[in-house]
Formats: sequence, structure tokens, C-alpha cells
Amino acid sequence: MALSVGKEELQGITENFVEKLFTKGIFDGVSVALAEDVIGFSPSIHRFCYGRWDVKHFLQDEYERLAPCGISQINSLCFNTVENVSIEVHVTVSSMKLRKLIMLSITVMYKKVLEGYIVVGINIALDSDHRTYKEITPPDMDQYGYFSAYDNFTGLLNREAFCSRTTDMLADYPHKNFDILRINIERFKVINEVFGEVQGDKLLKYLGNFLKSIDLKLYLAGRLYADNFVVCFESADGEAERLMRTLQVVANSFEINHHTMLTFGLYKIEDKTIPVNKMIERANIALNQVKGNHRISHCVYEEKMWDRMLMEQKIMNALDSALENKEFLLMLQPKYELENETVIGSEALVRWINKDGRSISPGVFVPIFEKNGSIYELDKFMWESVCQQIRTWLNEGKEVKPVSVNVSRIDLYDPDLVDVLNSIVNKYDIPKRLFELEITESAYIGDPHMIISVIDNLRREGFCILMDDFGSGYSSLNMLKDIYIDILKIDMGFLQRTDRTGRGNNILSAVVRMAEQLNLPTIVEGVETKEQVDLLKSIGCNWVQGFYFSQPITVEAFAETM
Ligand code: C2E
Ligand code: CA
Ligand code: CA
Repeated sequence: MALSVGKEELQGITENFVEKLFTKGIFDGVSVALAEDVIGFSPSIHRFCYGRWDVKHFLQDEYERLAPCGISQINSLCFNTVENVSIEVHVTVSSMKLRKLIMLSITVMYKKVLEGYIVVGINIALDSDHRTYKEITPPDMDQYGYFSAYDNFTGLLNREAFCSRTTDMLADYPHKNFDILRINIERFKVINEVFGEVQGDKLLKYLGNFLKSIDLKLYLAGRLYADNFVVCFESADGEAERLMRTLQVVANSFEINHHTMLTFGLYKIEDKTIPVNKMIERANIALNQVKGNHRISHCVYEEKMWDRMLMEQKIMNALDSALENKEFLLMLQPKYELENETVIGSEALVRWINKDGRSISPGVFVPIFEKNGSIYELDKFMWESVCQQIRTWLNEGKEVKPVSVNVSRIDLYDPDLVDVLNSIVNKYDIPKRLFELEITESAYIGDPHMIISVIDNLRREGFCILMDDFGSGYSSLNMLKDIYIDILKIDMGFLQRTDRTGRGNNILSAVVRMAEQLNLPTIVEGVETKEQVDLLKSIGCNWVQGFYFSQPITVEAFAETM
């Protein structure tokens, strides 16, 4: 059925059609005149359809994608040739569902037939000249129940809405590039604990308000949970850096007696086909590279981080079964008296030989287990293995020398650590002098008060404490006056690596001399060469450990030295 009207009337009919379609979802008028082979086309959502039936559905879907909605502006243009008339309607639709203003340009193409005009095509496009993603907040919004798109607390988009809006935005601008930036408040837990949750809440709102106020054309902001914010914006030279800098300035301006540091993870969207949730995850992987790092506050996602994360995940997940399958092996590296090269004790080092016989280096898996705290399980296993071994030797009547075990800085956070160690030692009835504890110097740098008090408690219980990796941070010379330990363990390797000019040797001898004055015995580890041995002799070192004397060896091999 054709519209039996004159050319002049088409413009009014078309405007009327568009208005009714978007306000009421009714599409009479024009739709009665759809040609059999009419086409519908919506480039912004990549939709193309053909035939009366499909085009009607297409119109229905367009309405439902936005509804309920209102129209705030409508005008149209008419283009015509002898045969055809095209009416282009520009309309501003406020969509309650999407909570945004959308400018659309709808073109209805008519063809002249005997009885009047029939519709041969309908094109619905985003009106690129006027598009905006600015939020609208009509006062009667709750009646539609669409508040669920918002995080009630900050008024930013919640995760779900952020993802769907971002998906829309990326689809609407296939030729533009976008960035996703995750923002996190460093040590937010501490702010809550020290300044109270009221202050913590205020800070979240403060940042939320700022994120809402950012005036970029293509920009969306959301809060995922707690102190995790996310924004998506059009990539531009220096934009991300500018945004991060500004946000940090804003955080600094929050009135609280604490330096509020933000950390950022940036994902530059390369592959627009992956779900936005995954993009957010990638930004998070980048963020995790700098979380807890006090010097660097942002990181840009790279593909290799994803691979590394998968590898780490695999290792983390494998711990339980590896413990169960006895894949961890206790190795001992002998320690020597330098003077006459007799064995004075050993250090317990873990080895992981997995099912297929491959060994994984502790340098790889220890830091991974430290990340999620599971190192504690492994350490307890090692401590027990060592005590068990010492008990066996004692029962065999062997003369046992002290064995030191590694205590990760993560273990120090367990308030029951002293009890745990006591109960293992007691279970096997081991004299405490035979079971020494190595605690790495870096633990001290991270949290000096905590480590001083833990070390005091352990020493009060009779445990012998070795400070491991001493010298890795030069601030450590200072700490000797604050902390009471039993033996200083100096790493030869990094003293040399960090200094090729010979200054390392001077530092080494200065440390040894200083320790002497403090009546603090020292052991130098990582001794590899004859030259190093000579140097150590010349500066009056007594104890050593390193490949020059022995690699870490099996318990059986070690027993032969006894
Ligand atoms: P660490 O505690 O400083 O242990 C000394 C590391 O240096 C060992 O590496 C040892 O094999 C290696 N080493 C010994 N002599 C030499 C030498 O002359 N030259 C060089 N270049 N290296 C030498 P390993 O066994 O690979 O362990 C690496 C790190 O993993 C350890 O450093 C320690 O931090 C950690 N680790 C090892 N076993 C355990 C454990 O049971 N628990 C915990 N928490 N950490 C462990
Ligand atoms: Ca050690
Ligand atoms: Ca060490």
C-alpha cells in the first residue's frame, strides 16, 4: 500500500513517524507503505535488514534499545529527484534506559509509484556531529527503576553499566582509539583504619565527584567496588598522563593528614572485540604491577603481563597438589669456617621437582607464593622437614650442626608465628640452637616496627636470628643500631654486581669491621671464586657459604660430610 500524498506532505509524515516511533514505540503511517523489498540499515550497530517483516522488527528493536525515551528536538531536511524523495530527520532522544542523550539522524527513502509513494529504505544513524555521552539526570528518573545502573554511593556507573556503555561507545566509534584506566587508592585499608571509615567514604566520594566532573567528549567513569575506579576515554597524545597527574593532584588536595597516593593501570584498547570486562581485567593486571610499589604509580598493560599472570596463576594453583605429591625437596648448602674449611652448619633451600621431572627455581616460585601469602604453607613444610631430619640424625647419634631455614617476610605477619615455630621444634624435641632462622633484610625496610618486635619475640623464645641478604639496600648499615640479631649474613654477589669499581670491596670490609665492633658474627654468602676467598681472608671474615665450596646438595650427600 502506497502513501497517496503529494511530495510536500512527506516531510511532515516522516517527522511524525519518527516522533511516534521513539516516544510510543508505534510505527504506523510510514510503515504501512513499506515496499516488499525495503531495506533497513543502522551502521552504528552494524545492522542491515531486508524485507517488510525484518524492517518492522528492526524498528521495534531500535525503539526497545532506547525506551523509555523522550524527544527534545526534531527537525528535518528534504532531498529529492524526479523519482525519489529522501527525508532526513534529526532527532535528539533522551533515553531513560541508557541514561543519555542520543542524537540520531533517520533517513527515510521514498520511491514514487503510481498511487503515491512507497518506502524503499530506512537508515538510522548516530548523528556524528552532535553526539555526546554526557549523562542526563531527569528528575523523575526513579520511576523507571533505572537507578540500578549507578553506584549509589558515588553516583558513578556501576560495573555492569560501565561495561555496557563502554561497549556502545566503542561500537559507535569504530575508527577512534580508546584507553581504559583503572584507578586505585594505595593502602586505602589503612586510611579506613587510621582515620575512620567516615573519612574513607568521604575520600571515595571526593574522587567520585571529580571523575564525574571530567569534561571530555568521549568519556565514561565507573566504580567497580571499594576503592576501584575505572574510566574509558578517547586516546589522545598525553591524555592518560594528564588525567593521572590531575587525579593525583586531586587526591593530594583531600584534607587528611596522610599522603593519599593513587595507583593506575592503563590498557590501551587494541582489540575492540574482547569484552569490556576483560579489558578492565587487563588494566588491572597493569595496576597490579605497581600496587605496593612506592616509587612507581602507573603501568601500561603489555601482552607479556597476561602470559606472566597465567603462569603465576598456574604456579599458585599447583602448590597444594605439589605439597601433597611431595614435589618439594629439602636441599642443604653447607656453611664453612673460612680458616680451615670445615663445615659449621647449613642452610635449608627448597627445590621443586614437578611430576614430569622438571625443576622450577625458587627464584621463580617463591616470589609468586609470597604474593598470595601461600609461601607460609611451604615454609612450614620446610621447617618441619628440617626438624624431622635433625631428629633422625640425633637419633642416629650424629654430631649435628645448626641448620638455618628461610622465613619469608610474609610469615612475619602471622601473630602466631612464634607458637607455630615453637610447636614444630617441640614436636621433634630439637634444641633451639640447631634450628636457626634467616629473615631477609628487605622485610626490615618494608615495615621496621613490625619486624623489630617479631625478631625480639623470637629471640626471647631462644631462636637464633640471621639477617639474610644484608647489604641489598645501603640503608641497612643504619639499621644495625636499632635491631638485635645474632648473625649477619652478607651477600657477596650483589655487593659486586652493584659496583664494579672496587667500592663494593671497601663496603664489604667496612661492614665486616663494623659488625666486629658490634660483636656480631658474620657469614658471607655467594662466594664463587678464589679471588673472593682471598679477599675475604684478608678482611678477616670467618664464615662463608657459596658455590666455590659447595652447591646446595641433597640431605644424603650432606650427611656424608658429617
Ligand atoms: P637466599 O636465601 O639468599 O639463598 C641463597 C641462594 O643463593 C640460593 O638460591 C643458593 O642456591 C644461591 N647460592 C648459593 N651460593 C651461591 C653462589 O656462590 N653464587 C650464586 N650466584 N648463588 C649462590 P636458591 O636456592 O635458588 O634460592 C633463591 C632464593 O629463594 C633464596 O635466596 C631464598 O630467598 C628463596 N628460598 C629458597 N628456599 C626457600 C624456602 O624454603 N623458603 C623461603 N621463604 N624462601 C626460600
Ligand atoms: Ca637465605
Ligand atoms: Ca641470602
